Amino acid sequence: MTTTSKDPLRIADITVPGPFAGPLSYRIEPGQMPVPGCRCTVPLRSRQVVGMVTAVRPAQPGDSNTLKSITDVLDDAPLLSPDVLQLAQWVSRYYLYDAYPAYMLAFPAALRSGEPAELNDEPQLELTVSGEHLDPDKLKGRRQREALALLQSLTKAGQVCTPALLRGKGVDRTHWKGLIDKRLLKQRPAQLLPASPTGALRQQALALNPDQAAALSTLPVEGFAVQLLEGVTGSGKTEVYLQAMQRALERGKRVLVLVPEIGLTPQTLARFQQRFQDNLVALHSGMTDKQRNNAWLRAQAGEASIILGTRSAILTPIPDLGLIVVDEEHDASYKQQDTLRYHARDLAIYRARLLNIPVMLGSATPSLESLHNAQQGRYQHQQLQQRAQGQTRARLETIDMRKQRQEHGVSERLLHRVRQHLEGGNQVLLFLNRRGYAPSWFCRQCGWMSDCPFCDARLTYHRGRHQMLCHHCGHQERPQQQCPDCGSTDLTPLGAGTERAEEALATWFPDTPIIRFDRDSVANARDLEQQLNRAQADGPAILVGTQMLAKGHHFERVTLVGIIDMDAGLFSADFRARERMGQLLVQVSGRSGRGDLAGEVVLQTFHPDHPFFTPLLEQDYPAFATQLLAERQRSGLPPFGYLACLRSDSAYPQRAEQLLKEMAGRLLAEPGIRVFGPLPALLSRRAGKHRFTLLVQSDQRSRLHTALQPLVADYPRQQRHVSWHLDIDPIDLM
Ligand code: ADP
Ligand code: ZN
Ligand code: ZN
Repeated sequence: MTTTSKDPLRIADITVPGPFAGPLSYRIEPGQMPVPGCRCTVPLRSRQVVGMVTAVRPAQPGDSNTLKSITDVLDDAPLLSPDVLQLAQWVSRYYLYDAYPAYMLAFPAALRSGEPAELNDEPQLELTVSGEHLDPDKLKGRRQREALALLQSLTKAGQVCTPALLRGKGVDRTHWKGLIDKRLLKQRPAQLLPASPTGALRQQALALNPDQAAALSTLPVEGFAVQLLEGVTGSGKTEVYLQAMQRALERGKRVLVLVPEIGLTPQTLARFQQRFQDNLVALHSGMTDKQRNNAWLRAQAGEASIILGTRSAILTPIPDLGLIVVDEEHDASYKQQDTLRYHARDLAIYRARLLNIPVMLGSATPSLESLHNAQQGRYQHQQLQQRAQGQTRARLETIDMRKQRQEHGVSERLLHRVRQHLEGGNQVLLFLNRRGYAPSWFCRQCGWMSDCPFCDARLTYHRGRHQMLCHHCGHQERPQQQCPDCGSTDLTPLGAGTERAEEALATWFPDTPIIRFDRDSVANARDLEQQLNRAQADGPAILVGTQMLAKGHHFERVTLVGIIDMDAGLFSADFRARERMGQLLVQVSGRSGRGDLAGEVVLQTFHPDHPFFTPLLEQDYPAFATQLLAERQRSGLPPFGYLACLRSDSAYPQRAEQLLKEMAGRLLAEPGIRVFGPLPALLSRRAGKHRFTLLVQSDQRSRLHTALQPLVADYPRQQRHVSWHLDIDPIDLM
């Protein structure tokens, strides 16, 4: 196509990084063909940046005639589909945050930095025409003969040959290199091979029980609908997902499954892979940038039909997406806790609505938001009442710690139980939501405790490295040998964390493997897999850990769950603390009594009569949730009212407080808005910064947005000596 000076000037609106209210306009040069969803490099001030094209249009009278030109169009075809573009725009509007990071959220790191959208894989191997027809026996070397025969049979079967595939069959580079020299084989860059979903099975689907069948038949095959699928661990939710997925795949649609941050283990993947022949990719933070890039491109091009991912996977472009599943929908890891504080479950629902497709939310302990939506008739509510394999619920009992002798936080009674279960050849799971050795370092003479110099928090003693560590800012120091207040040397760790529990258990049960699960012992998916594998070995074992243990893993051999301490959440000022604690209790209890063994759950507490525990002890999460919902309704808290949290921090407490006071004044002038605060944050000082929060509440979501919008426009997030941010639908009030 030739361009003459008569061609009208064309403009692309491009979202670039920076505090701009909307996209910037750039001139399209002859030969450039940007379309919405493409990345471009464009000049911005004195830099070149990667921008996202959101619109292409003819120049209008209002456009400046000194517009800068696009430097480079990076993609021939849109990388982001229209629904993802719309979703990102909605995210930016809803969370009142710049559009650019919302778009970038959709990309893996390599694409964000402007790298070409190409597979980063080993090259593929392709037989030449002579390679396809040569009789392998004509070759001299035995290895070359075998390599050629294998390549021919794979090619006949329609397989794409890669070095990795051959390696898996015991043939490596030294075997086939000679074939390339003889021009029987050539290499070419890895290519994306879009494939249609089939829903073909590797493994028979199970016959559904009546509850499962009801859930599956209620979920529409097409059209927007949200189904809340409630059922304890082991009640067969995953089987319902699998069959709903099968239906979608058979109709040529692709499926996106979201799982919590730590939930995406090779075990989970294997379960989906064992069922379907369709291509599956995983997207999670434990992958290298290269792996993520490749997986993303496979999803984007339609090579994969099943995409299994954590939070940010919700923005992956997927052609013909037909179903979204959000497993463990109550899980806090769906909410991003910094910068753009979005909630992946809420994005899933918005995206399903955009695409007019169904979405399933599964949980043993649904969030109060989802329960409320179900009660209001906005969601379908399906309950799986029984464990799929017919086990009974675990018995739950409390141990009154006021009446117990204890050592390292474990009561005599619990210890006795642990011994019984181990002697029976079973496994025991001990839950303690505190990592480290001891939550503080304490002077027996005067009561002094070691505090973080930068935070309003105690330092945790980590015995393994003999360090005091701040879990809020990362500060480390050596434990004091002498009390800074009274000079005594009678200093000791106080309280117990997972590290101490592990140590104590090892002395009590020297012959039993102790497998610890917390952030210090499990840093990534590989560690987790390793620990999970150890837990699968035969024979007695003790698993001890934090909430990492509560996340949907199947521990077939556990017959006793001991909850060492959960009291902290009872008196927290965070109104969400009790919801989270109740969910944790139910989730942790759900780890026992799988397989064909009945389970037992024991809770140590200093407050056995606290009304909070009553429904939970009966293992009645719905009754517990009803109780909390009634409280929330009385106080206008979510899901009955809408909430935003403004947080500020500064080295100077007055500055942090002053900023929020000013904002509170403006918010109060708006109709239908209530504010609480500013108050010092629950953790009032962190990493040397003083922190304040201001809660903003309204009975109408739109009012909340209208009131907050001008603040976002008028106050830069980073200012001299003070910064602030906005959290819409906060789930953590720390
Ligand atoms: P959840 O996802 O609720 O934890 P799963 O779907 O993993 O439950 O089911 C728990 C166990 O029960 C699995 O081993 C699964 O294979 C089995 N199961 C699920 N549904 C059925 C069924 N309808 N018939 C027989 N076994 C089932
Ligand atoms: Zn002292
Ligand atoms: Zn600190």
